[in-house]
Amino acid sequence: MMKNFKKYTLIACSLFTLAACDLEIDITNPGLITEEKPDRPQAGETITYRAQVWVEKNDMEELYGGERLFRQNLEALFRNTTTFWNESTNKFDYRFEWAMGEGDDNLVIYDIKSGVKSQAEYNVYKDKAYGTLNTEKYDFVLFLALRCTKGGLSCGGGGASKQSVVQAYFEEGHDIFAKKWPEKGTYSDLGHEYGHVRGAQDLYQYMIPAENNPVSHVAYDYPKCNMGTGYQEWSDYCSAIFNHNAQYKQITADMTRSTYPKQMLVRVTKDGKPVQRATVNFWGSRATFRDIYAEPGNSPYMKKKTDANGEFTINDIYRMFIPDYNNTPNLPPKSPVDEFPFSRWYCFVVEVELDGGQTKCVWLSDLDIVPEYLDGGQQEPYVFEIQL
Ligand SMILES: [Zn+2]
Repeated sequence: MMKNFKKYTLIACSLFTLAACDLEIDITNPGLITEEKPDRPQAGETITYRAQVWVEKNDMEELYGGERLFRQNLEALFRNTTTFWNESTNKFDYRFEWAMGEGDDNLVIYDIKSGVKSQAEYNVYKDKAYGTLNTEKYDFVLFLALRCTKGGLSCGGGGASKQSVVQAYFEEGHDIFAKKWPEKGTYSDLGHEYGHVRGAQDLYQYMIPAENNPVSHVAYDYPKCNMGTGYQEWSDYCSAIFNHNAQYKQITADMTRSTYPKQMLVRVTKDGKPVQRATVNFWGSRATFRDIYAEPGNSPYMKKKTDANGEFTINDIYRMFIPDYNNTPNLPPKSPVDEFPFSRWYCFVVEVELDGGQTKCVWLSDLDIVPEYLDGGQQEPYVFEIQL
């Protein structure tokens, strides 16, 4: 896994019963879509994402009654996840189905040893799950470690065939098949991970309490979502991303970029009239810290001034949120302690400086920008108006 750690950024997430869920996204190499664009499916169509499942032989036999029974339970687990996905409140254009692929190798049975095993022992095989995948038959990998010393769910990106790998480690005594929809269970925790497979962020990173916001001293009003801020609900952001990415079975960083409009026109008005030469500061929020990064004495991430029309343009919205770390000033340090986890901003407090030292602050979030853009409510450039 060290190999993947070097290439991909790791996102830690911990709202779940299982303590940890990480997302690794390739943000260092946006890459290019070289494949031909598949046709956009018809609205209402069922789109199936097919898993190749990896399981340890002794776990399957000692805990789950052998292959035949395990396969049956696994099919039911996928059906529960599919129900969870589609029955959660959403704005989906399609029905999304999660299932095992149909090849002979849809269940890869690896063999370590009997009894409890360490993460390191499992990881030898988990690394292999990042190898070549037959994408004619499978879209992603579900790697199961069912008798581990330490539990935790995560989603990694960037397999050899661009596949995501959902890594699911469970401690002794946890029956992954015990809970059924609508009760919260392993199938719904996996449903959250599949949200990462389809390109969604952990939304709990946007839970910024008022005390962590030294600029405007208010909490961020995040949407409820299966991505960590609610249960049995998909935010508009996730619905828009899943719809947009629906026909792509593997998701690249390039696709993440394509969910953002390119340019933003920021306009400051008062009583409908443009406010000229207003200074506008952008303060970003970070993962893990869940705060607005504004240490005393720090410059804002961006400082802009409106022109004679009360406007200015931001040329690359994606890069505003996900900056090129080494070529962008005013970012939190990455060492000795990583104060900028995942090397991206989540949302911004936008602060307009007024006469007499007063300020007016508003939120700017990609949880609003992305769905507004993808649903066609906003086009290029994305217009962000601040009314004083
Ligand atoms: Zn997560």
